[in-house]
Amino acid sequence: MTERSGKRIALLGFELESNRFAPVVGHSEFAGKLILKGADMMADLATENPRSPGTLVGFARAMDEMGPWTPVPLMVAVAGAAGAVEHAYYEEVKDEMLRRLEAEMPVDGVYFCEHGAAVTTEISDPDGELFAAVRALVGPDAAMVSTLDLHANVSDKMVESTDVLVAYLTNPHVDHFERGTEAARAMVELMAGLKTETAFIRLPLQAPQVTQLTATGPYGEVIDIGQDRLDETILNVSICSGFTYGDTPENGMAFIVTARGDEGRARRLCRELAEHAWGQRHRFVPRLTSLDECIRRAVEVGNDETLSPIIIADVADNPGAGSRGNTTWLLSGLHEAGAVGVILGVFFDAALAAEAHALGVGKTFAARFNRDEASPYSKPFEAEAKVCALSSGDLVGRPGGSVAGRTIQLGPTAALELGGVTVVVVSNRVQCFDSGFFETFGVDVEAARTVVVKSRGHFRAGFAHLFTPDQILEADTPGLSSPNLANFTFSGYRRPIFPLDAETAWQPPDW
Ligand SMILES: [Zn+2]
Repeated sequence: MTERSGKRIALLGFELESNRFAPVVGHSEFAGKLILKGADMMADLATENPRSPGTLVGFARAMDEMGPWTPVPLMVAVAGAAGAVEHAYYEEVKDEMLRRLEAEMPVDGVYFCEHGAAVTTEISDPDGELFAAVRALVGPDAAMVSTLDLHANVSDKMVESTDVLVAYLTNPHVDHFERGTEAARAMVELMAGLKTETAFIRLPLQAPQVTQLTATGPYGEVIDIGQDRLDETILNVSICSGFTYGDTPENGMAFIVTARGDEGRARRLCRELAEHAWGQRHRFVPRLTSLDECIRRAVEVGNDETLSPIIIADVADNPGAGSRGNTTWLLSGLHEAGAVGVILGVFFDAALAAEAHALGVGKTFAARFNRDEASPYSKPFEAEAKVCALSSGDLVGRPGGSVAGRTIQLGPTAALELGGVTVVVVSNRVQCFDSGFFETFGVDVEAARTVVVKSRGHFRAGFAHLFTPDQILEADTPGLSSPNLANFTFSGYRRPIFPLDAETAWQPPDW
């Protein structure tokens, strides 16, 4: 490796969004998604379509452009959305990160690509614990900057341990790269001697995931107000809506305003934004479409070509929120109702995909969905199916979508035709991000009358070239990521919290 000059910036990242109601995960979940260490990180970042998180890619490329620096690649561990992580495995990852950091000391700064909504089987704030441990090691003078997912459950420890937190501004998330770039700009200012002041407020407002969209609605509006206030004093405004199913004391919409050395400005703006959102809280209550109505609409558009096609979002079974991506309420309901022109994906069932691969294209068989899963949500379903297409399951995210330009591996994949319903069955549990999740496997999205997606909201970016928001129904089905919060028994939240507790009150801080 050639010798680099410039400040030494350590690169770390732990990305897990924990749904407390989903199965616990450990090493295999991370190994199946992405673990990179040391020189392998730089090798991945040098590729055209890196597997690394877009924030890390954006950070590294912006740092390269802004002048000499010495990247100190340590470790990233990414699992996307799943359940809580085994505490022992989290400790193992944290210890390895700290060991690698210690071996490279001293460093001038640390950049994290972090999700911010992990929980372990024992603690509710592993992200904050990691930040605090790194701060203890590098000391108060090193710069610490982290990017965060918009769904982070932000803790005091996360805010206190870092100099700048930079959260996504978009949901669907399409600004990973830009926020990585913004983090790099902050890092360069910190390297030049900037001291920051941060104000932080967490509201007792945990919006269900479907009302956290940013293109329209109350959440996007308050984010826009915050961005309009950026100037020579206000360095960053981040507003995290929180991950509903994390069920932690850190849940609640979080406002983080970072100023260049002016605590009063940071506090005034932070309070103004929090008060604005609180005043709009009744607009965060979701409106879902019943399962019966979804099926009725699908049958209707299948039989009448003059009607516009629809997307049914199976928001309660979103792998992007830790669901299994294999509930069968919509699949069996649409099949039994005789709906036609339906495509459904992507359905997570490795055993079924393997069986289809063994049989080959053109074969007809009794497809048994969910033969291996015991969860009450993963109900078995059986129907005669024809194997239409087979694939190794590699694709690159389409332009405009949440995974644009990134390599996605779905594992052995099969398109199965069940009467009027064609299902894309995959071996890796991933949400349906864009139309390529069908088109790659020979399933025509433009010809479909109804598209059922296992996704809560990110699909909106990846299907926006074909569907407008008024063609989208959000289904009220059972599932591990249902926006119908009354379906869950929350035990970790600080109560009361809106809208779960309708009479929740809040007073702004006495600053
Ligand atoms: Zn998110």
